[in-house]
Amino acid sequence: PGEAKYPYLASLNAAQMRAVTASPSIPLQILAGPGSGKTRVLTSRVAYLVQHHGYRPYEIVAVTFTNKASKEMKKRLQVLLGDKAADALVLGTFHATCAKYLRRYGQLIELPNNFIIADAEDCKKIMSGLLKARKDILDESRISLKEGAVLSEISKAKAKEESPDAMAIRAAHDPSSSTSTTAVIAELYAEYEAALREANSLDFDDLLVFGLKLFRTAPRVLEGCRHILVDEFQDTNTTQYELMKCFAKPHGGVSVVGDPDQSIYGWRSAEVENLNKMNDDFPGVEAIYLEENYRSTGSILSAAHAVVSQDRDRIKKNLYTSHPKSTPVTQKVFSTPVIEASFIAWEIKRLIAYSGGVLGYDDFAILLRYNALSRVIESALQKDSIPNRIVGGHKFFERMEIKDLLAYLQLADNQGFTPAFVRVVNTPKRAIGDKSVADLMAAAKSMKISPMELSERIIDGEPLPAGLKPALKKNLATFVGAVRKLRRAAERGTPVGDLIKLVIDKTGYEEYLRTSQQDFDSRWENVQELISYSVTVAEEQARQAAGDSIEDGFMPTNSAAVEAIVNRVQAGERETKDQVKLHPMFRRETSGLSDDSRSRSRSASVMNGKDKLKVSEAENGVIEVLSSDEEDEADDTKPQAMTNGRRKPSTGPSETVESLASAPENMTPLAYFLQTSMLSTDTEADQEDTYQPKVTITTVHSAKGLEWPVVFIPAVEQGTYPSYRCTEAHEIAEERRLLYVAMTRAQNFLTLSHCQFRMMGGEENDKEASEFIGMVNRHQPGLLSTTLPDVDLAVRRYMSNMLARPPPDEEVTKDMIFKHVRAAPPVSTWDAPEPRDKYQNRFARREVTKATRAAEYWA
Ligand code: ATP
Ligand code: MG
Repeated sequence: PGEAKYPYLASLNAAQMRAVTASPSIPLQILAGPGSGKTRVLTSRVAYLVQHHGYRPYEIVAVTFTNKASKEMKKRLQVLLGDKAADALVLGTFHATCAKYLRRYGQLIELPNNFIIADAEDCKKIMSGLLKARKDILDESRISLKEGAVLSEISKAKAKEESPDAMAIRAAHDPSSSTSTTAVIAELYAEYEAALREANSLDFDDLLVFGLKLFRTAPRVLEGCRHILVDEFQDTNTTQYELMKCFAKPHGGVSVVGDPDQSIYGWRSAEVENLNKMNDDFPGVEAIYLEENYRSTGSILSAAHAVVSQDRDRIKKNLYTSHPKSTPVTQKVFSTPVIEASFIAWEIKRLIAYSGGVLGYDDFAILLRYNALSRVIESALQKDSIPNRIVGGHKFFERMEIKDLLAYLQLADNQGFTPAFVRVVNTPKRAIGDKSVADLMAAAKSMKISPMELSERIIDGEPLPAGLKPALKKNLATFVGAVRKLRRAAERGTPVGDLIKLVIDKTGYEEYLRTSQQDFDSRWENVQELISYSVTVAEEQARQAAGDSIEDGFMPTNSAAVEAIVNRVQAGERETKDQVKLHPMFRRETSGLSDDSRSRSRSASVMNGKDKLKVSEAENGVIEVLSSDEEDEADDTKPQAMTNGRRKPSTGPSETVESLASAPENMTPLAYFLQTSMLSTDTEADQEDTYQPKVTITTVHSAKGLEWPVVFIPAVEQGTYPSYRCTEAHEIAEERRLLYVAMTRAQNFLTLSHCQFRMMGGEENDKEASEFIGMVNRHQPGLLSTTLPDVDLAVRRYMSNMLARPPPDEEVTKDMIFKHVRAAPPVSTWDAPEPRDKYQNRFARREVTKATRAAEYWA
């Protein structure tokens, strides 16, 4: 149906077409192997719901597994539906989606709308504090706990909606020997939750837990959701599954896509069982299977299949490709990781040089089992000046200088966020030692206020609490002054880039970096990058706001609430500055406003008691209410009325009104920026960078759903695939699937390599090839080959063919050329670069002899 009207339907195969056009009211499961177009179908289905079924974009919630995947989906939908509609979709990870709803409606479950998202490091700090506090008790009962381990238990509990109490009960009923440990963890869990709430913050898992709480307590916030679509469904955990049920509840529209063979997050509580659970929860589920792989060559597909089918418990699936078999998958063995890495660098250069401009740096990916493997690879690429980007490696937002600056911004946004206070109260150095900080925190705790608030009170002249050093007041002055200045600037809506400059300026941060840190230049570059990033985020926010979000935007509006705001605005009831975006329908009715010819916006003065309020409406329909003393720039030392944040939490019947006022388009630029950057510290933190083709280095886990023409998988060794940490059968099976996911990212060329020797944990280890590829070689010899593809010949052949018979009127796309380059005949071996590794000699005997044919090839 509608093929002519919707060109994107024309390229779909029959099964894909059925999936896209299936009735929205029937729960849909699309089950299929990698590269079969699942994500493409999901994206097309979104477009089809809008264009064919007439859904409003904001009635559709589409959930992807990573931020990167949601960006890609959005890009595609911008093409299909236009920018405005694509912006209005609720599109993101489960975490980001929940954050959006909580920011807007959190007050319905007593969550202040200015909560901060605590990142992994903040959480670790909180936990290590808790562990320290009960060190004696733990020592006594001989329980040794590391913060990472406790946090991972808590995370597991949150993934299955287990509360601290429920965990304690489980511990009491569990007859196993680790009972007492679980009981202690349950107590820590309760304390940890209290600490987070006290700091007015949520950790990543909380975004889901609180989202669920919100949707269950106030289901009406989801009334407008007509369809939920979930990509990578095999990796949802129980909490995410429950969230999906909430989204599906109002109208029953649900479509999921997944592949049990690619479930690789079992270690983080993903439940592949959710696929079956759906049959109970959604009667009449229709399953559609896709069997044609469009991504990879026949050789890559057979090799990957040979790996995954070693799992005898797996449900068998068909997957075929109409692409030719072409160049075999390469298996290479090297003596050491350094040589392996220099091979990869060499091979990238070779393929680019000989592909006649068909391949560029961004066509390559190096997929790693874990992050630490990247160091050697990175330095090899650098040596050969190959531009590269590390995804999920040293995350940008975890760098010291970035965390420092963010901490200032967080404090300005949210006085109660104590982890930020602890981080920067003495950064740069202000002679406030650890002892003073501890005392200050203890005093604040006993007064039931945050340490930031106490510091401000001290500066405002409140007497020092007993036990604090008198010098403290003097030492705190610049810190408090800087935070206040920032807060005021932020409340005026100052762009975040300027706020960052303000921090640097007010705290002497540049000088501090220059004098205290060795690699000043690169750190300073990061600071500049943060400023540029803030500009990108601001543009994004502006785009969202410009999309007339209330009328046509991310959630339908309760017009009664808007009316209430209008009434209050007109009655001059607001005491503090507030911004309300009005529905155009109501704009006409704000008759209290008079035209102000000078500023192209309309404004009026309203008396509220004895205060004069200035009400103005900007061109874009934003109504701003300013009390007249706020108009003058407030000075730093003036005491400020704060209730733990920007806005006073509301109570009573006006709740809805308040929560609407905190809609994303009405968040301050700072709050919006913090939310965006905190969410991107999640697993894959992809740095926004200016477009420059780069080789991607990433973990397999973050490579999910993505594809590249050329893929290298180094370290395919025992102890890595499977990881030495995995011993049980189900863990080994997950490791096997991990290798399967890695291999199926490749479109044209795939190289698996392993070393005879590798340092692990500071120890030298002899290494063998992974048992997974060992099995392939034993049972299907020839599937993996030691040869490398001769791209040069392939391209030349293709080009001469094309010159002889130019394609009729068709644009020669990269894809077309690829199709032919796929059939590259092999070169026989690799010309090893000069040994550069200190361990080289030990393996010299075993080193592969240099290939004569490769030498000829170079000549
Ligand atoms: P994964 O399981 O790895 O996430 P997937 O099933 O989601 O894979 P997609 O990423 O949607 O697969 O598609 C893989 C590739 O195949 C993409 O480049 C996509 O554009 C292409 N593709 C999908 N369907 C078709 C089709 N009908 N015709 C041509 N190309 C297609
Ligand atoms: Mg996909």
